[in-house]
Amino acid sequence: MDLPRNPTRAVKVGSVIIGDGNPIVVQSMCATHTQDTTATSAQANALHEAGAGIVRIAVDNRKDAAALAIIRSETDANLSVDLQENYRMAALVAPLVQKIRYNPGHLYHHEREKPWQDKVRYLVDIAGQHDCAIRVGVNAGSVDPDKKDQFPAEDSISPMLASAMEHCEYLDRLGFTRYVVSLKDSDPAKVIEANRRFAAQRPDIPLHLGVTEAGLPPQGIIKTRIAFEQLISQGIGDTIRVSLTLPNDRKPEEISAGNEILADIAAGRVRSVVTYDLDHLNIISCPSCSRVENEAFIELAEEVREMTRYARDFPATIAVMGCRVNGPGETDDADLGLWCGPRAVTLKKGTETLGRYGYDEILPRLKEELDRLMADQTPPA
Ligand code: SF4
Repeated sequence: MDLPRNPTRAVKVGSVIIGDGNPIVVQSMCATHTQDTTATSAQANALHEAGAGIVRIAVDNRKDAAALAIIRSETDANLSVDLQENYRMAALVAPLVQKIRYNPGHLYHHEREKPWQDKVRYLVDIAGQHDCAIRVGVNAGSVDPDKKDQFPAEDSISPMLASAMEHCEYLDRLGFTRYVVSLKDSDPAKVIEANRRFAAQRPDIPLHLGVTEAGLPPQGIIKTRIAFEQLISQGIGDTIRVSLTLPNDRKPEEISAGNEILADIAAGRVRSVVTYDLDHLNIISCPSCSRVENEAFIELAEEVREMTRYARDFPATIAVMGCRVNGPGETDDADLGLWCGPRAVTLKKGTETLGRYGYDEILPRLKEELDRLMADQTPPA
């Protein structure tokens, strides 16, 4: 596909090269439970067969790492692993994968007394020993708290950029240049701005593009397309993920959606004149991953969309998240948020927790809060 790219460094991830003018790598992430090795190997293979250049898997503990060893033996996909707080898991997983993703905002929660630089140095040593690339994955919902404090609360982009730049400088100083960066938000406009600003400062570093929690298709694809059109047609972005809330058997649609967007951009079939209207009701939902604790989450996301149709002209954001790992933080910026636990769903209004409800109780409670929000913001006649 002939899409002129920024002159980025080449970053080898197994059999693919990200950056340096190579074709944009389309990737995805397994949403199955990592310890269900049969399902996860099958999904990794389905994504690989659909054309995923890299397949990411979440590893949160030793049992996940043991499962990863089995999955590794059952797939030829280039694997990337998503580390949460426990950065030391890298030593167990690096021999099995081609790329390690860490989130600078998560490095703070584990071994708090240890400087983040020591943790990054540990990751770099492990990556170097095992021929792995690294992704510095910055997310608006989990930005390094120190950086957040340095900027006004309404500016969510500058803390993300400051965090990414700090890590890039440190990695460069360590002499480790085999890394890519991602700056994700659920708002396509913020993804565009963050990545444009980053690319202007560091055009040499390959960018992994994505709109996080884009949600259900087709809206999730539309939001992602809008961000990608603006960035990719300007040479920004060397690898992409379309994060969609989909049942497991449809996960390869993330790859076909990515390929379609790239083909359309290359052919000049861009639609960005249709601006995604965030002045209307905006439902965001995570793409789900192995951390989902109740499969009912996907169905719930669909039910939320159906139930809220009556409020489609109301300018508010409702976030539906699949787990208690990232759900609590990633719902903070939404007007109303739901995050799903094994048996209950927590309902939030901004950062305030309103309560926990059964899966069969949550929709009427959400409607009640939405109605209240609408009544509060409707000007008197
Ligand atoms: S919110 Fe939880 S379940 Fe959803 S993608 Fe993020 S980590 Fe996975």
